[in-house]
Amino acid sequence: MTYVTGLTSGGNPWTPQFLQTINWDTCLGCGRCFKACGRGVMALLALNEDGEVADEDDDEIERKVMSVVQPQNCIGCQACDRVCPKRCHTYAPALA
Ligand code: SF4
Ligand code: SF4
Repeated sequence: MTYVTGLTSGGNPWTPQFLQTINWDTCLGCGRCFKACGRGVMALLALNEDGEVADEDDDEIERKVMSVVQPQNCIGCQACDRVCPKRCHTYAPALA
């Protein structure tokens, strides 16, 4: 298989690892990964007590979790992984 690869400024090849999922079971909703990403890939979502996505104005909001909302904007830098205290993110290379 051939994956999408890039070059560093020194001309060394590297394979970007693109964000696939965020584990809602472990996510604290702390927002660190959101702040680390400059590409608008993620957003906080509200969940109700049944673990279903709820409206922001809903009184039944139990907690918030980070979600992948614009995966097509990811450049595969994995900065989000480095700031996450719970290692919630999973990644994969993209087929060329
Ligand atoms: S890998 Fe980089 S670009 Fe992709 S979501 Fe994480 S911080 Fe954003
Ligand atoms: S840094 Fe980790 S724990 Fe914090 S919001 Fe992002 S995925 Fe959730």
